[in-house]
Parts: sequence; C-alpha cells; structure tokens
Amino acid sequence: MPSSNVQPKHHARWRAWPATPLVAPLVLLAVLALGLILWGANALYQEREQRQRHQIERELQAISQLQARSVAEWRERRLSDAMALTDDSLFAQAVARWFATLGQEPDTDILGRLRTLQERARYTAVYLVDPEGALRLTPGDSAQGRLHAPELLALHRALSQAQPIMLEPRQDNFFAFPFFGLMVPLFDGITPLGAVWLVSDVRTSLYPLLEQWPTPSRSAESAIVQRDGNEVRFVSPLRHYNDAPQSLRLPMSHSDDPAVQAATGVRGIIYGRDYRGQDVLAMVSAVPDSPWFMVSKIDVAEAFTDMRVREWLTLSLPISLGLLIVGSFAVFWQRRAWRRERALKTDLQRNMRWLESAQKAAAVGYFAYDAAEKSFFMSGMACTIFGVPQGTFLSLRQWMDMLHPDERAKTLDVHTRAITERTALRTQYRIRRTSDRHVRWVEVWAEYDGNSEQSGQVRMIGTVQDITDRKQAEEKLASYRAALEAQVRQDPLTQVANRLALDETVATEWTRAMRSGAPLSVLMIDVDHFKAYNDHYGHVAGDLCLQRVAQALSLAVGRVGDMVARYGGEEFAVLLPDTAIRQATVIGQRLCEAVRALNIEHLAAHGRLQLTVSIGAATALPAFTAAPGLLHAIHPASARDAARHLFEQADSALYGAKQSGRDQVVAFTPDGQAPTFAPVPSAP
Ligand code: GH3
Ligand code: MG
Ligand code: MG
Repeated sequence: MPSSNVQPKHHARWRAWPATPLVAPLVLLAVLALGLILWGANALYQEREQRQRHQIERELQAISQLQARSVAEWRERRLSDAMALTDDSLFAQAVARWFATLGQEPDTDILGRLRTLQERARYTAVYLVDPEGALRLTPGDSAQGRLHAPELLALHRALSQAQPIMLEPRQDNFFAFPFFGLMVPLFDGITPLGAVWLVSDVRTSLYPLLEQWPTPSRSAESAIVQRDGNEVRFVSPLRHYNDAPQSLRLPMSHSDDPAVQAATGVRGIIYGRDYRGQDVLAMVSAVPDSPWFMVSKIDVAEAFTDMRVREWLTLSLPISLGLLIVGSFAVFWQRRAWRRERALKTDLQRNMRWLESAQKAAAVGYFAYDAAEKSFFMSGMACTIFGVPQGTFLSLRQWMDMLHPDERAKTLDVHTRAITERTALRTQYRIRRTSDRHVRWVEVWAEYDGNSEQSGQVRMIGTVQDITDRKQAEEKLASYRAALEAQVRQDPLTQVANRLALDETVATEWTRAMRSGAPLSVLMIDVDHFKAYNDHYGHVAGDLCLQRVAQALSLAVGRVGDMVARYGGEEFAVLLPDTAIRQATVIGQRLCEAVRALNIEHLAAHGRLQLTVSIGAATALPAFTAAPGLLHAIHPASARDAARHLFEQADSALYGAKQSGRDQVVAFTPDGQAPTFAPVPSAP
C-alpha cells in the first residue's frame, strides 16, 4: 500500500466533546423562575391596582358627597333666612307703615333688621323693593333703581306664590360680580307690600365650598351644573375654563360628558369625557332640594398613571431582588458546571497523556473501527506500528492491502465474524509495514463497542501490539526445544537413540502392532569380549570402538522405521516393526557382518583377532497377546510388561548366542532349545 494514499483526516465525530448537559435545564429553570416572578408581580400589581382604583373612587365619592352636602346646607341656610323674614310680621308692619308715610325717614327697626341680615347672614347686598320692582331701601341708605327682568319676574312669582323665590347665580351689569339672589315676599296681612332681595356674591360664598380639594391634584375639580332646556350650563367656575362659568353650555347630545350624564339622571361613579375632551373619573350626584347637580371629577391619566407608576416602583424592588437571586443562582450554577467541565477536561487530557505514555512504553496502540464508514481511527502508537502518518484514518481497503498474503483471507474472515457476531477479537497476523516495507507481526485484541449502537454505529475498539520480537524469540525457543528434545533421546557417545527413546518407540510400535496385527521383532546386540578390549586397548579406544559399532549398525539396518538404540554399556538394541523372526534373524546376520566388516582389531578376543558382536532375536505378535474382542481394553501398563517380556526373550537368545560361541545370531525359542537358525559362519 503506497503511503501517499494514506491521508491524515480529522473527523469531528471522534473529537466532539459533549456539550455540558446542565446548560439546557439551567436555562429552563431560570426562564421558569423569571416567568413565575413576573406572573406573581403582575398578579400582585393587578390586585393592588384594583384596590387602589376602589380607593380613588371611594375618595372621590366622599369628597363629592361632602361638597354636595355643604352646597345643600348653604342653600338651606339662605332659604331659612328667607322663611324667617317672610314670617316676621312686625317687620312687615313696619315696612307697611313706612310705605304709607311717603317721604319720611325710614323706621330704625327696618334699617336695623336689614343690617342685621346683611351682617349676620353675610349677604353682599340686601334691598327692600316695592311691588313694582323699584329699589327703596338698603341698609343704612335709601336705594335708587329698579329690578332687572329676572328679578322682577321672581318678585311677581314670590308675591303671587307668597313664598321666597331663589334666583340662580348669574352675572349682569347690576353688580360687578356673579351673584345669587333670593326674593323674599312681604305681606301686611294678605296685602302684598313688596319684597326683600337678598344678594350673595357667589365668588365668596358658594364657590369656596367647591374649591376645597383635600388632596393635592393637578386636575381634580368639582362643579355645580344645572339643566337648562336642551343644554347643561355650569353654575360654578371651572379650573380649566377661564371665562365666566355661565358662558359654558353643553348640548345634551354630549352624552359621555359627566355633566350631561348627571342632567340625564345618572348617579354615582362614572367614567366619561369632560368639556376638555379628557378621559375623567367622575362622581355625579344631585344637590338635595335644588335643580343643581354636583359633578366631581379627576383626570384618569392623573388618577391612575401616577398610581401605576407608584405601584410598579413598589413592585420593582421585590422583582429586582428576585431577578438578582435567580441571576446569582444561575451564575453560580453555570460557574460550577463550567468548573466541573474544566476539571473533567484536565483529567481527560492527563489520562490521554498517561495512556499515550503507557502505549509507548508497552508498544501498544489502540484503534476504533467504524463498520459503517469502513475506517479505522488509530492512536499515535497504532499509526507507528502500521507505519502510517500520525492522525491517520485508515480505510478498510488500505488495511487489507497491508495484510500478509498468506494470512489475508484468514484475518479478514476473523474480523468479519467478530463484527457480524459482535464477539471479541483475539488474533495475530503479519503486515507489511507501510513506512519501511518490513514484515511485522501484530497482535490485535478488540471488543465490540456496545455503546456505539445507541448512536447508530457499529464499532469495535481494541488494542494493537507489535509482537515481531516476541514471535522471533518464540521461534528460536521452539527450535532450541526441538534440539533439546532430540538430545534427550540421543546417546551422547554413539549418537544413536538412547534407552528413553527406545522405550517410547517400543510403546508406540507395540500399540501399532496390536492394531495392525503385524509382528514386532527385537534384536539384542552385545559386543564380544569387550571387557578384554577395554583392558587391552584402554577405555578411550573402547569408546571409539562403540561409536564405530553403533554407526555400522545404523547403516546396516537401512529400513525407515527400524530403530537402533544403545541399550546400555556395550549393548545395543534394534527394534524392527512389522518384521517376523526369520527376517529379523536375517537382519541380525547382516548386522554381525557389518561389525565384522569394520575389521576392528581385537587381539585379546580369546582366539579371534577382530571385534565381533553376538545377537539374540525375539518376535512377538502383540495382537495375539490378548483375547480377541478385548484388544481395546489392554492397559498401557500391560503393554509395557509384554514389551519387557519380549526384550527378556531377546536377551535370553543373546545368552544363547554367547553360549554357542559368540559372533552369531540366535532366535528365541520358547522351550529354550537350540536356535532355529544356524550360527553365522565365523570370520576367516
Ligand atoms: P562377553 O563376550 O561375554 O560379553 O564378554 P565381555 O567382556 O563383553 O563381558 P561384559 O559384558 O561383562 O563386559 C562389558 C564391558 O564393557 C565392561 C565394561 O568395562 C565395558 N564397557 C561398558 N560400557 C562401556 C563404555 O561406555 N566404554 C567403554 N570403553 N567400555 C565400556
Ligand atoms: Mg555385556
Ligand atoms: Mg560383551
């Protein structure tokens, strides 16, 4: 795989740090708390506003009623003055007398009475008028002039009805001020004498009753209104109307004006629009025993806006406090979450550093394989092991190209099975490293990542380790072990198999012979007069002699599967599988000849001049040593006994060969008779 194909990529999904899970609930909590505070504040505001509204309405009502009552009392007082005067017969008689004596000075009683009225009851002017409307007398002086039309009309009505007549406030050139009049008729018996005209300056007597407003206000005012045909006219002055109040008249069509509503019979607290076009809160009532209505009003803007501002200011304190607490809590919480996140990040970074160091130290890398993307994310160490640039995402194809051809199919199969069956992966395989094209052994341990399925991925995560050095050490160790095992089964002097190897092979061959039913033969070989050889030529020569004999025997046996072993001392054994006694004897003779052919001088051999061997042969048919049908039941120990027995038989035959003059082969016969086969002819 060319290294240029491997491009470092940076996939965000491997590095994505999860957003702090605390932020969303925190924001929600803060919004909820805020909503709750605002809702509570609004509810509180509504409740207080309602209370305040009622309070203002009650205040307005109380003020209006108080003013209406004082106005009514003011009228009553004047009327009672008038009634008292009408009923004063002494005064009437005095007036009648004075009228009868034309040209004379008026009676002091009359003047005194008029003065008393003016001063005590505080009338602005008091006139005595005759039935024709001529002014006759005023306190302290005689009067000139005549009544104007409205007063003249009142005079006629008063005289005809014999009761005082009230004259609504008006202004004309008679006085320099707006005035209220009362025409009080005088009778001498039933003879009409004239009347007393009581005049009050309304600016100083009536208006002050309305001007007193107990609380400071920019717009509040009370006014007396009166219906006049299809109009409503104002009796008292208005705060925002500078001309004479009598000049202000409202048509009855202005139905939303409180003054007009009062004239149409509405009573109590109402909302409307006044003569200025302003929205007002008004209290309307009728002044008892009069054609007057009392209208007290205040601008809605003043009454409630100020109150609202005040209310909000009052509420803003707990709201600010609540917001401060919520804000502090949110900041504290956020700070804690942020700190925790920072600590986790630091921990993670430290752990990653440790992991990297540990990987470097152990030469272990880790990887994650995404089955959907068919790509490997690899750690720094894993990249080094595969010989690709750091931060590489290895595609499946690139990885497959790296696999050693001998193991590619097997490795792919193991990987595919681990992915599809979601099982653990434990495998070793060879790769050709991309960086230097060296063949390396790697060991991979991976697990299926169960968590990955939640995010819709199929992922395996695991470790990869370069085990090339270990593999090489293992191979070396295996060859050492093989050599060692060979040595353990080899006779060090003669280089043929030793007794251990012989025993193992005998056991194997015995079992095999039992299965196949073939005969198994053994030759026991003993060097003749070897003690004497040693004595004569020395032990070193004796050893050399044994080596040569062993080599000659090995070469002479010839057949694969036959085994030559040193049995002990100067004795050898030859194991001949699948060989009957006759054939074994023939082989034995061949071995005797081979030793003789070595032509080793042995001058101490009691008459012979060269080294010879004697051989005893024995054969067994292992299958027949047990009853048919019990073959499989033969215990290994009994097989060993049987084999030992065979060797004893061969040994016994060897004894026979020695007895018969040495340098010959004798086959074992059960009855201990002479050997079946004639001894090999002696060497010349
Ligand atoms: P026989 O013909 O009756 O077998 O006579 P022998 O002298 O061979 O009799 P024996 O079997 O008693 O003698 C064996 C001798 O073999 C005794 C011992 O010194 C010698 N021998 C045994 N093992 C070794 C060995 O490893 N090296 C040497 N040099 N001599 C050995
Ligand atoms: Mg011996
Ligand atoms: Mg011997």
